[in-house]
Amino acid sequence: MASIRVAIFGAGPSGLFLADALLKAHPEISIDVIDRLPAPYGLVRYGVAPDHPKIKSVINTFQKTFEDERVRFLGNVAFGVDLTLEDVRRFYDVTAYAVGSSVDRPLGIPGEELAGNLSSTEFVAWYSGHPDQTGREIRLDAEAVAVIGVGNVAIDVTRILAKHVDELRTTDVPEHVLDVLATSRIRDIYLVGRRGPAQAKFTTPELRELGELPNADVIVDPKDLDLDATSAAAVAGKSALQRNLDVLRDFANRPSQNRARRIHLTFLYSPIEIKGAGHVAELTLERNRIDENENAVGTGALEKLSVQQVYRAVGYRGIPLPGLPFDKRRNVIANEAGRIVDESGKRIPGQYATGWIKRGPTGVIGTNKADSAETARAIVEDLPNLPRAPQPAEAAVDALLTERKVRVCTWDDWLAIDRHERELGGKAGREERIKVTEFDGLLAMRG
Ligand code: NAP
Repeated sequence: MASIRVAIFGAGPSGLFLADALLKAHPEISIDVIDRLPAPYGLVRYGVAPDHPKIKSVINTFQKTFEDERVRFLGNVAFGVDLTLEDVRRFYDVTAYAVGSSVDRPLGIPGEELAGNLSSTEFVAWYSGHPDQTGREIRLDAEAVAVIGVGNVAIDVTRILAKHVDELRTTDVPEHVLDVLATSRIRDIYLVGRRGPAQAKFTTPELRELGELPNADVIVDPKDLDLDATSAAAVAGKSALQRNLDVLRDFANRPSQNRARRIHLTFLYSPIEIKGAGHVAELTLERNRIDENENAVGTGALEKLSVQQVYRAVGYRGIPLPGLPFDKRRNVIANEAGRIVDESGKRIPGQYATGWIKRGPTGVIGTNKADSAETARAIVEDLPNLPRAPQPAEAAVDALLTERKVRVCTWDDWLAIDRHERELGGKAGREERIKVTEFDGLLAMRG
């Protein structure tokens, strides 16, 4: 039997967990893992915080997947640009999309156009050395900033802002970012949750880590921890939520250590308006209460917070891929357990989704393993009845990419980049690599 040809768009965790699951489930399968960037690993390389190297070590597992002779890496190849839906149908029996949720959500309030209003997507990509942010100038001359949202991304953003630059010098934070962090004048960081501590999305280890920062005090108003009846009932019996509250109580009881920076954890406030003459100067917040469904309801009481920057970390959303059906309500590719379906709910043969673009931007990296296992099961179950691709040879897709002058970054090319980055890090005395952050710089490193 000729091998089953599979394309997976997206070389991040969900795509690579899917590749691994398929290799284990089917002996006669060969996979092209395709990414629009020259470097693999998606959010592990460009999203996981630089001071969380243990989480990044999942790359060692992913590397083994690429070392399997049935797998190729085709970097710098964008779906819908370099390869269309029509193309992939010609070359691959199965195509899976693991492209994540790439766009941040706006707050939808007046003043978002002001300078100094930033998305966590931009900020995280900037400090992670993402090629999309090359040349991006971020100034850290604000003394007070607000971080909107109380999920783990908000915690990451807060921690990077709160740390002294020297705490990040051994990580993979690019040199030009360290230079800007060294100029930071930040004194106060207000983390703003629209609901209460019982509804916060952060996880306990991430919350606890804020209290371990040598450069920052964490300030919590004990009154915020007096739960209303709905929240008290929601927390009862839920150990994860109780642990969060225990950590917050510990923070509330701590005396100030007069550290250089202060993290103010605030709850039950919604941002209403950002004000300033061309630049953020003030954030108007409305006091909320929790209703019986644990939603935030405005009380009409307004408060003003003097800040010079606003970072929104209110979640991501997926964007449609050319030619594929999209669920506009959930911002995911329309699918049933990973099988892509059209507007009438009918399955589109050979087309699958996995990860955030399948289920939305929730869960930690490991969550994608089970998610991709589900998509892999659907693929393997469907295989006997799928139409076969008319041009399944690897050479056919390679020839088209060459004809289109796409500068494909292969696995060997990536290994050359990887070696170079590690050497740069080693020479600078870092424990981690120094990333090449320019797109052309990455491509120039090939082979
Ligand atoms: P998230 O967990 O969904 O948190 C988003 C936060 O923004 C919530 O507090 C949400 O409040 C708030 N929010 C949404 N819309 C808002 C609005 N209009 N005004 C004010 N607040 C608003 O999303 P995330 O932080 O982007 O994280 C995405 C996923 O990545 C999560 O599963 C997270 O755990 C994961 N992640 C994990 C790590 C880690 O493990 N270290 C690090 C980063 C990210 P409501 O709850 O009221 O909607």
